[in-house]
Amino acid sequence: MSRRLRIVVDHGLCVGNAMCLETATSTFAHNDDRQSVVVDPQGDPEGLVLEAAGSCPVGAICVRVEETDEQLFPPTAASPDPR
Ligand code: SF4
Repeated sequence: MSRRLRIVVDHGLCVGNAMCLETATSTFAHNDDRQSVVVDPQGDPEGLVLEAAGSCPVGAICVRVEETDEQLFPPTAASPDPR
């Protein structure tokens, strides 16, 4: 079973270019102000959600694991070194 994610979009940063919507189509949608909102945090596989967060040009999307509060995106200093 996949981990439950907590996804937050910073509307102070979101410029509404829809990159995240096009990548994780079941997770994100535009509201009436053309800003991204999370409609279903479990709507897409975790990898697709992280890809969507990474595609955001202004870094408006934060993804955490609901149960542990581990931050998956953006990467933190405590993240494992990928090398
Ligand atoms: S990719 Fe970023 S800026 Fe574009 S709609 Fe999504 S959250 Fe907003």
